Amino acid sequence: MAIEDDVLVIGGGLAGIAAAVGAHEQGARVRLVSHKQSTMRQASGLIDLLGYTPDGDGPVVDPFEAIAELPEGHPYERAGLDAVRAGIDMFDDATGEMYAGSHTDKNALVPTHGGAIKPTARYPDSAAPGIASANGDTLFVGFDSMIEFDAPVAADHLAATGVPYETDGVTIEFPGNLRDDAKVTRFAHLLDRDDEVAVDGTTMPVRTALAERVKEHADGHERIGFPAVLGDDHATEVRAELADRLGASVFEVPMGPPSLPGLRLEDRLYEYLHEIGVRVSTGNPIVDVEQVNGEIDRVVGDHTGREVPYKAQQYILATGGLVGKGIDSDREGVYEPVFNCHVPHPADRYDWFEDGAFDDHEFARFGVPVDTELRPIDADDAPEYENLRAAGSVLGGYDFPSEKSGSGVSLATGYAAGELAGDRV
Ligand SMILES: Cc1cc2nc3c(=O)[nH]c(=O)nc-3n(C[C@H](O)[C@H](O)[C@H](O)COP(=O)(O)OP(=O)(O)OC[C@H]3O[C@@H](n4cnc5c(N)ncnc54)[C@H](O)[C@@H]3O)c2cc1C
Repeated sequence: MAIEDDVLVIGGGLAGIAAAVGAHEQGARVRLVSHKQSTMRQASGLIDLLGYTPDGDGPVVDPFEAIAELPEGHPYERAGLDAVRAGIDMFDDATGEMYAGSHTDKNALVPTHGGAIKPTARYPDSAAPGIASANGDTLFVGFDSMIEFDAPVAADHLAATGVPYETDGVTIEFPGNLRDDAKVTRFAHLLDRDDEVAVDGTTMPVRTALAERVKEHADGHERIGFPAVLGDDHATEVRAELADRLGASVFEVPMGPPSLPGLRLEDRLYEYLHEIGVRVSTGNPIVDVEQVNGEIDRVVGDHTGREVPYKAQQYILATGGLVGKGIDSDREGVYEPVFNCHVPHPADRYDWFEDGAFDDHEFARFGVPVDTELRPIDADDAPEYENLRAAGSVLGGYDFPSEKSGSGVSLATGYAAGELAGDRV
C-alpha cells in the first residue's frame, strides 16, 4: 500500500520547504520527503534575492526592479515577479523576528567572513547591527583558532569601500582554549551554557571571560562583530549579555560551512512545517518513478533496501543542484536522476567550462528548464509530466553564486510551484 497525500514534495531544502508551505496554504494535504541534509547548513543564512545581474552589473540596489528585467528562461522570469514577492512574504511569516530586512525593497550590504560586503535582501537579526550601510565605528573580533575569519582583513576590506566610520580588527584567543576543537558548534554550546572556563589561574563563566578579553580592544567602538558562533539555542541571550558587558552593539558576521545561522534557519523552518501540519519524512531517497499516460502515478522511496511507494496527485521536484546531486553528471552527460528530466547541455565536455576559475562557466547554469507553470519541459518544450513541477537549484538558466540569487530563487519558485500544485488538487 502506498503512502497517499495530495501533494508530494521531493527534497527538503529551502525550495522544498517553500513548496510544502505553498501547497498547504491552498488546502492540500502535503508530505515532504527528503534524503540528506540540505545546503542550508552550508549557506551563510543570508537570503539573497539578486545581488548582481546575469551580466555582472551591481551591486543591485532594488532586487525587485532588477528581477523584472531578467531574460526569458531565468527561474525568476518563469515564476513571475508576484511569485518572488509571495515567496519572500512566506519567508518573513515563517521566520518572524529572527530575520531583518523586510522594512524595505532595497538590498542591505552585509559584511561576510571573507571580508566581502554582500548585497542581500534578508539577514539574520544577529547580523543586523553590523550592516555596512549603517554608521557606527566597528570592531571585528576574530579567534586565532578560527582561521576562516581574519578580523583585521575584514576591517581593511570594509574601510576600503569608503565607509564614513572607523573600522578595526583584532584576533584574540577564545577563553577556555578551544585550539584543539574549533568546531563552530563547540563555541556556540559553550556560550549557550555559559560554562566555567580557566583564565589566568582562576575560572569564570565564558561569556564574562570573552567580554573581558574583548574589552581590552573595544576602545569606544559602537559595534563589535564576532564570527557567527554566538550561541545556538540561546543565541539572543548570549548576544545581549555580551552587548551589555561591552557597552556596544554586538553582531555576528555570517560564516562559511557549517553555518550556525544556516542551522538555526533550518531548525526554524522545520518547526514551522510542523506547526502548520505538513508531514515530513527524512533520511531516505526517492529512487524510482511509475507513470501512467504521461502523469506520474507514484514514486518509490528506498528505505534502507525496502521499497516504499508514495502516491499523490501532484509532485514537486526540489532535489537541489550540482552541489546536492539533484543534477548529476558522468562521462555520458548531465542528467536529473529521479525523473530523468531533460537537462540541456553541450555534448562536448570541453564546452562546459572556461579556462579561468572566475570565468562565466556554462555548467553553472545546468539544470532543468521549465514552462511558466514550472513544469519541467523536454527538448521540444513540452511538459515532461502534467503533474510534476520543479523548484530551487534543480532549475537551470541561472548562476546563483555569481548572481547572489540562491535562496531567493528557491523561495520564489518553491512557493509558486507549491501554490500551483495545491491549486490543482
Ligand atoms: C556553500 C554554499 C553557500 C551558499 N551561500 C548562500 C548565501 O549566502 N545566500 C544565498 O541566498 N544562497 C546561498 N547558497 C545557495 C542556497 O543555499 C541554495 O541555492 C538553496 O538553499 C538551494 O535550496 P534547494 O532547496 O533548491 O536545494 P538543496 O538545499 O540542495 O536541497 C535539496 C534537498 O533535496 C534532497 N534530495 C536530493 N535528492 C533526493 C532524492 N532523490 N530523494 C529525496 N530527497 C532528495 C537533498 O538531500 C536536500 O535535502 C549557498 C549554497 C552553498 C552550497
